[in-house]
Amino acid sequence: MRRGSARPKLAMYWAASCGGCEMAILSLDERLFALNDSFEVAFCPCLVDAKIADLEALPDGDIAVALFNGGIRTNDDRAMASLLRQKSRTLIAFGSCAHEGCIPGLANLRSPQEHIRSSFLENSTTANARRITPKSSTQVKEGTLHLPLWNDRLTTLAQNVPVEYFLPGCPPEPHRVAELFRMISGEDEMPPAGSVIGAGSSTVCAECPRERGRKNASRFYRIHEKTTDPSLCLIEQGILCMGIATRDGCGCRCPAANIPCSGCYGRPEGVSDQGAAMISALASVIDIGHAEGLSSREIYDRIDAVINTLPDYVGTFWKYSLADSLLAGLLVRQR
Ligand code: SF4
Ligand code: SF4
Repeated sequence: MRRGSARPKLAMYWAASCGGCEMAILSLDERLFALNDSFEVAFCPCLVDAKIADLEALPDGDIAVALFNGGIRTNDDRAMASLLRQKSRTLIAFGSCAHEGCIPGLANLRSPQEHIRSSFLENSTTANARRITPKSSTQVKEGTLHLPLWNDRLTTLAQNVPVEYFLPGCPPEPHRVAELFRMISGEDEMPPAGSVIGAGSSTVCAECPRERGRKNASRFYRIHEKTTDPSLCLIEQGILCMGIATRDGCGCRCPAANIPCSGCYGRPEGVSDQGAAMISALASVIDIGHAEGLSSREIYDRIDAVINTLPDYVGTFWKYSLADSLLAGLLVRQR
């Protein structure tokens, strides 16, 4: 058991995220003791009372490994990403938000001003008779209070600073987090820098035990609209399952529980855009009946009718990856 300053330093930090990645680390249970034997937790606001000034005081590169979860939404998030990059020899994008933007990245469909207008003025669930909206600074008798400024869009960690490894998942599965800790503590070998770790290189379908036949979907159902057969592929039953376009590694958690994969492990190896890959896969699944004799307009309308049974295209196909998708730049240009 190694103790004291001989242990390499570990940092963990959360930016724009929900806290689920911290829960994934806590899910290591007694394995956390082994982590504590291997590392000194030098900075982790949800575990130890170390301040930013403590981090700033460390020599550059003094932290062996920093796990960063959450996307970069504010100036503060960006400043912390830069500081941790400077102080760490290995920086890991931990979880879907840091990796591909995840659900907070769906906010990129609107500008910060539109979100503020919608949340505080148009659809506010609390009384706001004075039409107060958030400000970056507020004067109180004790001085000036500052709120971090929102960036124009949420970005991923690697869109801001160089990153050595990416661990996908919303949140990463505990057995994959344990695998990561075995690697960073030197028990197992680290793959080359730039790799996605704690995941496979195929798709969720490769891990799925459900029977697959010919996929035909003449309409899609939401999971609560239909009783499904637990032994058959969900897509064949009209339930949109993102398994075809999602990296394996979770152990096929959701389809195993009769819930469609929503895509949290992100794009598989070699795929540049998860949503586009799913749309491309669906092209061979949609069943419009006999097309013989139909005009191209009629065929298009039938395809449209099937697609229109999906409730939310972007929130379905790019639920976890919008901020890192081919659409990312387009959305900003359109504002
Ligand atoms: S699409 Fe979903 S249910 Fe079908 S094989 Fe793939 S992971 Fe399993
Ligand atoms: S099945 Fe899909 S959504 Fe569920 S944990 Fe695995 S990758 Fe994530």
